[in-house]
Amino acid sequence: MLPSPPLFLGMKSHLNQHVLVLNRLWQAVNICTVRRALGLLFEGHAQVVLDGSSGSFQTFSFDQWRDFSMQEPHPDSIHTISFRIRVPRVILLCLFDRLPKKEVKFTRHNIFERDKNTCQYCGGLFERRDLNLDHVIPKDRGGPTTWENIVCSCIACNTKKANHTPSEVGLRLIRKPKRPKWRPFVQVTVGSHHDSWKHFLDLAYWNVELGGDAN
Ligand SMILES: [Zn+2]
Repeated sequence: MLPSPPLFLGMKSHLNQHVLVLNRLWQAVNICTVRRALGLLFEGHAQVVLDGSSGSFQTFSFDQWRDFSMQEPHPDSIHTISFRIRVPRVILLCLFDRLPKKEVKFTRHNIFERDKNTCQYCGGLFERRDLNLDHVIPKDRGGPTTWENIVCSCIACNTKKANHTPSEVGLRLIRKPKRPKWRPFVQVTVGSHHDSWKHFLDLAYWNVELGGDAN
């Protein structure tokens, strides 16, 4: 039986602070709360990453981090009944299959994002209010509401298309609609992140996987 995780009695504000999550390739993939990070750490699924002195990084298992926290008390610490532990700022996941799966949500907003506010038939750029979401294969002809069958369409193209397939009315998609690639660099809104994240966010900025035919 697994030992039960220690009860963290830290201030709620500490436990709800944000921790940057790196995957095994040291790429920034997510943000979680300190509470979640400590859980992952305790279960052995993650290690703490600490900015070393000479531009190198040290990693710590839960036990190592607890010992380190006891030896070098830090103001940003959380107290349990029997020990104190420093708040981790960056953690490194140990297992690939613990990668947080962040699929791009199928939302109106994200479809506009994917299609870059461009009518996918005439290629025109429009204000969002002048664009519709169009089923490429019409809904009443069995066209599903999926990434692969929904595109932005301007009102003129949409009217022309009506209840037809594009080819029936001489329209052609400017590109094949597909599910956007999951972006390993999650939206880390600058302004609220901890200094120790900078190195990884800079890396993430340059290594971000840009959408195949976009950008
Ligand atoms: Zn159009």
